[in-house]
Amino acid sequence: MQEKGTISIHTENIFPIIKKFLYSDHEIFLRELVSNAVDATQKIKRLASLGQYNGELGDLRVEVAFDADKKTITISDNGLGMTADEIKKYINQIAFSGATEFMEKFKEAKDANEIIGRFGLGFYSAFMVADKVEIQTLSYQDGAEPAYWVCDGSTEFEIGEGTLAERGTEITLHVNQEGEEFLSEHRLQEILDKYCKFLPVPIKFGTKTQEEEDGVDEEGKPKYISVAVDNIINDTNPIWTKAPSELKDEDYLNFYKELYPFSEEPLFWIHLNVDYPFNLTGVLYFPKLKNDFEVQKNKIKLFSRQVFITDEVKDIVPEFLMLLHGVIDSPDIPLNVSRSFLQADSNVKKINSYITKKVADKLAELFKSDRKAYEEKWSDIGVFVKYGMITEEKFYDKAKDFVLLTSTTKENFTLEEYKEKVAPVQTDKDDRLVYIYTNDPSKQDAFIQSANKKGYDVLLMDTPIDTHFISQLEQKLEKTSLKRVDADVADKLINKGEAPESVLTEEQVTKVKSIFDKAINKPAFKVELESLNPDELPVTVTMDEFMRRMKDMAAMGGG
Ligand code: ADP
Ligand code: MG
Repeated sequence: MQEKGTISIHTENIFPIIKKFLYSDHEIFLRELVSNAVDATQKIKRLASLGQYNGELGDLRVEVAFDADKKTITISDNGLGMTADEIKKYINQIAFSGATEFMEKFKEAKDANEIIGRFGLGFYSAFMVADKVEIQTLSYQDGAEPAYWVCDGSTEFEIGEGTLAERGTEITLHVNQEGEEFLSEHRLQEILDKYCKFLPVPIKFGTKTQEEEDGVDEEGKPKYISVAVDNIINDTNPIWTKAPSELKDEDYLNFYKELYPFSEEPLFWIHLNVDYPFNLTGVLYFPKLKNDFEVQKNKIKLFSRQVFITDEVKDIVPEFLMLLHGVIDSPDIPLNVSRSFLQADSNVKKINSYITKKVADKLAELFKSDRKAYEEKWSDIGVFVKYGMITEEKFYDKAKDFVLLTSTTKENFTLEEYKEKVAPVQTDKDDRLVYIYTNDPSKQDAFIQSANKKGYDVLLMDTPIDTHFISQLEQKLEKTSLKRVDADVADKLINKGEAPESVLTEEQVTKVKSIFDKAINKPAFKVELESLNPDELPVTVTMDEFMRRMKDMAAMGGG
């Protein structure tokens, strides 16, 4: 018996709207249909485990196939299937509160994900690439009849008896002209790799040839033949779904290689695993930085129940960790809503601080357990740590115990250690600590040597992030200021050692100074006669730190 009906939405034809507004992201139709198929297999498994299904489960699987001549793409599964009534209920009644709302909302929607998620158009995304969609399905339920549904992209559909003999669902898309790019093995494989690579049931896409042993030859050596085997595109048990205790370093490294085949080995990783108050698993890797600018952002992949969603993880991962690599999987992140909503979402906020805390704890642990190894990695992780300290208060509070200051002598100190080291010599008359740094050791070498001679230590602060880090330290550290080595710090420090004796009389000093002053002729600079001792700098020309910063700022701001 064939039955005709109208899809229950209040607008004449929703599909032209879907097509038009979802244009940019057509490829996600496959993600939606394959995830539905996977869901169907997970549901039957669950029914079986609850004792509500007693038939054979069989090897649960999903298959994607295409026929370029017939212009079809088929997605089939041996999941729980649907009865005709269920098709009417789940497919015909589009799960959103009405076309009016839809018509209003699509105007604001910036991308396809947003509309699809918000209005539950998962299945209907098929109409972005097809002008006719057929469903053949057979429910797991006792005595269920196979059902058939077909719809041509208008609101009219037909439903009737189907032909499927085994439990499951088969969805056939009759690909339209715009969708023809998807009738290609290469293109489909690419989309499957992107979205479905870690789905929890095997997904077959065509076959591949494989060498297999086939007895031995006369000399007793094994013989090989090529056989066609199923091409399973996914890894059903990616490492983030396993317990950290089951995994070895090698597993993490292999997974990294799988995700980023062309990258260098990561420095270390953090396994995320939390189920309360939100659900989240994942592995975050600290990549090896080639230089500060070469790292790519957006390398973290966001999944929801093993379905790839996006690599735009902004707002979920704290800004300073955007340079990390790896995966995050959480069914609790609202995936398809607007950014402002995401920022306000309480789960997202919790996830964000959870990740910050985990990263801080991991760094603290590395620092404590093996300081030498930590120091070796410092040139790579320093950027993250400093960036985090600048941008996240909570991170600063933890990182202040493991951030390292590097001296021009190549030694590393914690903030506490450094304070202890320089306190006896580098205080000014107000009893404030003065940290001296260089931002360009090759150009400032003479100043560094001169400072060292006086017993002062000079910090290396020569990366772009250090400019901001210096201001942050000045705000956070009590009674401490930071001065560039070529600023006029020397006379403001109380030199607690023996003052070197000058070989010049006061009169001579004034005379030589005035010669220099005249030659330089710039009031911002200050000339000082140090000594005429042959292995020390006789004269230094410095600029006040405040003046210098003003000048730098003016230069940066272009006025
Ligand atoms: P969602 O997956 O968010 O529920 P969809 O539009 O993707 O929304 O699917 C609507 C419903 O149709 C599903 O919830 C499910 O009940 C049913 N469905 C879709 N595909 C299948 C399938 N392959 N097997 C069984 N049921 C399916
Ligand atoms: Mg769906």
